Amino acid sequence: MKKVLTIGLITLALILTHTKGVFGKTESSVDIIASNLQRIYKLLEFNSEPWNTLAELCDNFGPRLSGSTNLENALDWIEKKLREEGYDSVWSEEVLVPKWVRIHEDCEMVFPRRKIMPISAYGGSISTPVDGLLAEVLVVRDFEDLEKNKALAKGRIVVFNPPYEGYGKTVQYRWLGAVKAAECGAVAALCRPVTPMSMNNPHTGVMHYEDTVPKIPFASLTEEDVLLLERFQNRGIRAKLFLKIETRDEGTSPSRNLMAEIRGSTLPQEIIAFGGHIDSWDVGSGAQDDAGGCVASWYVLKVIKQLGIRPKRTLRLVFWVNEENGTEGGKRYAELHKNENHKLLFEFDSGVFPPVRIGFLGPDSIWKKVLSFQEFLAKFYPNVKIEKGGGGVDIFPMTKLGYPSGSLGTDDNGLYFWYHHSHTDTPDKVQPKDLNDCIAVMAMFLYLYSELI
Ligand SMILES: [Zn+2]
Repeated sequence: MKKVLTIGLITLALILTHTKGVFGKTESSVDIIASNLQRIYKLLEFNSEPWNTLAELCDNFGPRLSGSTNLENALDWIEKKLREEGYDSVWSEEVLVPKWVRIHEDCEMVFPRRKIMPISAYGGSISTPVDGLLAEVLVVRDFEDLEKNKALAKGRIVVFNPPYEGYGKTVQYRWLGAVKAAECGAVAALCRPVTPMSMNNPHTGVMHYEDTVPKIPFASLTEEDVLLLERFQNRGIRAKLFLKIETRDEGTSPSRNLMAEIRGSTLPQEIIAFGGHIDSWDVGSGAQDDAGGCVASWYVLKVIKQLGIRPKRTLRLVFWVNEENGTEGGKRYAELHKNENHKLLFEFDSGVFPPVRIGFLGPDSIWKKVLSFQEFLAKFYPNVKIEKGGGGVDIFPMTKLGYPSGSLGTDDNGLYFWYHHSHTDTPDKVQPKDLNDCIAVMAMFLYLYSELI
């Protein structure tokens, strides 16, 4: 077996016991680990299977909004495959998820000229009156601008036009826009999509109502149309829109978190749970958000199984449900598993692009060991840095109880939010090599974590 030790690894080797190797001869456990990393890399290097699986999942089932048949069919398909792949256990746990249905949406500018404007109602939005509504628009830059022009909002459609200043900052307009506009007497609200770049596509996402404020319909316009409406307003022309949105709130519906496990050889009670969220918005096919994270996680388990690697600790793959509009999957997981000995919860939900970062949050004693993984990874992925700070929406209910968390970060070059929550989020946006690299980095990190913490 090829020696792959670096100087730093020799030190680590000294503190590890000698054990029986995968090929039956006695080797240091670091040799075995290093050899397994090499095998993981080789198996994925020119492997077309992960991307084909991603495309099949997205193409055959389409978008997977909570409560939809698409989602349940996708889960059935994955579960069947997991069973065929022969893990130690495959099971699912019921989760009640909200069921909101988009039925129909139309927006047309009728003054100063006619123009169809593509829209995407935000998840949870109520309908307009059955015959739609006709109203002038008030374009505002931000909440402050709305406050200043409050008197002009009454009876109008408020159109928010916040420039993109990063997702975390700009998304507040999508979350709170309907409440703020309704407080000023608006009959509906529309918003510039939360994206750094637009090719005339609206972007949906979750929104919020307050019980004490009237509910009004709320949707994303395209950036191009928001800017057009603003230019009219700047010239003193008050554009008029016809808006018709039909949605239905169907309460809750049973869905599930899906899990598969390779049980640990010597520390089976110590669990490393990792995965992505299998639900998506009801547009595009949720390829980047988050079929990519799910398929990458799936292949982590599959590759480890295929290579006959038996980790020390239990590796638990989780397909969390309902991240997009309720996070019921993450909450349910914590409810059912909070007393199990989780050594790590790891989430991949940042888009499949070249991997550049593994974030970790946990006790200092583990952090020091995690940092030593950098040397193992550097042989294959010198650009991937291990840094403090890592988490995810689905694992948050567990990590807030004090369990260590981790996540994979990718270099999207700004592209992720171009596609995010829109019809453009399809498998062609995922590069097969990026997917393989994400799988390899995750598999290496989680395997190292299992063996060395
Ligand atoms: Zn996501």
